[in-house]
Amino acid sequence: MPLNVAIDGPAGAGKSTLAKAVAKELNCLYVDTGALYRAVGLYALRQGADPDDAYAVVPLLPQIDLQLQFTDGTQRVVLNGEDVSAAIRTPEASSASSKVSAHPGVRSFLLDLQRGLAAKNDVVMDGRDIGTVILPNARVKIFLTASPEERARRRWLELVEKDSFARMEDVLSAMLERDARDSSRDTAPLKPAPDSVLLDTTGLDFMQSLDKLLEIVHSAG
Ligand code: C5P
Repeated sequence: MPLNVAIDGPAGAGKSTLAKAVAKELNCLYVDTGALYRAVGLYALRQGADPDDAYAVVPLLPQIDLQLQFTDGTQRVVLNGEDVSAAIRTPEASSASSKVSAHPGVRSFLLDLQRGLAAKNDVVMDGRDIGTVILPNARVKIFLTASPEERARRRWLELVEKDSFARMEDVLSAMLERDARDSSRDTAPLKPAPDSVLLDTTGLDFMQSLDKLLEIVHSAG
């Protein structure tokens, strides 16, 4: 059976950077599931659909062909033949992804793609519901978090590299709004799986966090 490592947690907890490094260490595929919701959010925006409106978004799903491609450990997201890996990273796409992800129709649309990857490959998969819904039998489940201020600071640092106009308070409020929505939705809300190990990376640097994560993975056997 393939090795499945599930990493869930709120925005900016360092999931993607850490999960990527863990995957490299374990020689697994790193699957960033947030990118799938972002691609659906981007498609909804491009079609002029209100991402909050399930009646506008769900009928668009049959028009969407979504593929994840992996080259040298890097995931590319291909939406109807177009590589949207960069386009899905804007603040607008972030907000739209969180809105469309609340619709059960969107979640079930993306379920098979995620489970299929984990059934065929050793994966480190990160998201919000990986340990609770997508891979309930994952060998290792980690819930990664950090204080809201620390998470906003990390997200802000990422953003200013691309957009020097991002303001810290805007990043914090958008992040808190997204977390509140992700945690309070009825379908697959963000919450730790009962059998997950909680890792709070507040005050830890990248290497310290990575060491702790690897310790958790190795102690799970
Ligand atoms: O991880 P990332 O910030 O890229 O995720 C974007 C959005 O996609 C999240 O705010 C969340 O609403 C949604 N998401 C989800 N379930 C996942 C991964 C992401 O609902 N497994």
